[in-house]
Amino acid sequence: MRKLNITLSTDKFLNMLYCSNPSCSNPFNPDDNKFCIKCGQTLTLLFRNRFRIIRLLGEGGFSRTYEARDADRIDEPCVIKQFVPQVQGTNVLEKAT
Ligand SMILES: [Zn+2]
Repeated sequence: MRKLNITLSTDKFLNMLYCSNPSCSNPFNPDDNKFCIKCGQTLTLLFRNRFRIIRLLGEGGFSRTYEARDADRIDEPCVIKQFVPQVQGTNVLEKAT
């Protein structure tokens, strides 16, 4: 099964609609939206106009793995690995010494 590595700055992926504008800086929209909140383009169920996210397979560390279908290849099953960059400012609590 093919694997795709995609780096996303959001932890949202499932139950989302995706902007049809390939250069949109924020292609993720809540699924009750009709148009992209960022650029106003129509939304599609296919991530990058191509992949349909089926379910979360697993997560660990800074990555999550999703089962997906590649619509460009007659819904061939594939796996998308999402890297979630470490969010800055998580060390809010200082260690008491
Ligand atoms: Zn957009």
